[in-house]
Amino acid sequence: MIARFDYHVPASLDEACALKKEYGNTGIVVAGGSDVYAKMHLGDHLYDHVIDIKKIEDMQGIRWSETEGLSLGAAVTHHEIERHPVIKERYDVLVQGVRTIGSLQVRNRGTIGGNICTAAPSADGIGPLLVLDASCVIHGLGGERTVPLKDFFTGPKQTVLADDEVLVRVTVPTPAPSYGGAYFKYGRRNAMEIALLGISVYLEVADDGKTCSAMRIALGTSAPIPIRAQKTEAYYIGKDLSDRQVVEAASSIILEDASPRNSWRADGEFRRSLLKLLVPRTVRTAYGALTRE
Ligand SMILES: Cc1cc2nc3c(=O)[nH]c(=O)nc-3n(C[C@H](O)[C@H](O)[C@H](O)COP(=O)(O)OP(=O)(O)OC[C@H]3O[C@@H](n4cnc5c(N)ncnc54)[C@H](O)[C@@H]3O)c2cc1C
Repeated sequence: MIARFDYHVPASLDEACALKKEYGNTGIVVAGGSDVYAKMHLGDHLYDHVIDIKKIEDMQGIRWSETEGLSLGAAVTHHEIERHPVIKERYDVLVQGVRTIGSLQVRNRGTIGGNICTAAPSADGIGPLLVLDASCVIHGLGGERTVPLKDFFTGPKQTVLADDEVLVRVTVPTPAPSYGGAYFKYGRRNAMEIALLGISVYLEVADDGKTCSAMRIALGTSAPIPIRAQKTEAYYIGKDLSDRQVVEAASSIILEDASPRNSWRADGEFRRSLLKLLVPRTVRTAYGALTRE
């Protein structure tokens, strides 16, 4: 049973921000509630005030244009994302990531904004958005600001959001017409599993079809926050991605980017050996998935 709380349904962003500021640590914003209510049920987190933002107009909807790219309302569910025709066609790596979240029921409730704001290193929606170069549109009582997703996380389960701020939308530029993307989640089972490791890759190649011209790699559960593997990315630039040995050689660099820790799910040593094996493998998968015009 959940302990008693007051339930607020603000009609506007400003109202939501004012309530969030007013109630501080005694209140919590919820969107889908899949994370918040589960924790409240367990008695882990108790709040006197729940501020339900899911129906606020500005947080709804998926918009896309070739020039502006993709704009996802923070309250858009994972299931809406995985079914959207343009996202499936142009942002497939995001679909690969959100499809691994929980179960259909969880994806039907859980929102992309909630996934980002949990700031969990294991969150499966974050890595794909990191490699797609997403940004967060944040609303506060003082107005709106945009923060690149890579700068959104400040520490374990901590974000740049101030007391009076909420995430409103996530914007994602249009990827190159020809790119390869892949998400790999390592877990002990195929559903209802928190990632022991999450690897996201976005790559582009030159006209010869094999020389790497852009590489973005994001790692989940490999550091206290979701990260980009910048040294490994730099290694790949200019390399021949059709050469398996060249791709595999990144295994000697990847641990310069990652610092997985011991947890009850898996120890750090195991995660380090997975990273060395699975990052090159995910790069090969992304290369194989290269869309060619
Ligand atoms: C059974 C189960 C399985 C799960 N499996 C996975 C999994 O495989 N992978 C995975 O990544 N996650 C998983 N989750 C976690 C969770 O469902 C997802 O992270 C989901 O996307 C959270 O979205 P939500 O809208 O339900 O968040 P909520 O529970 O509503 O909120 C989560 C956090 O984000 C904050 N928040 C939400 N929206 C905003 C906003 N717009 N602005 C500011 N703060 C906001 C809330 O205050 C809260 O701190 C699982 C959860 C359950 C219960």
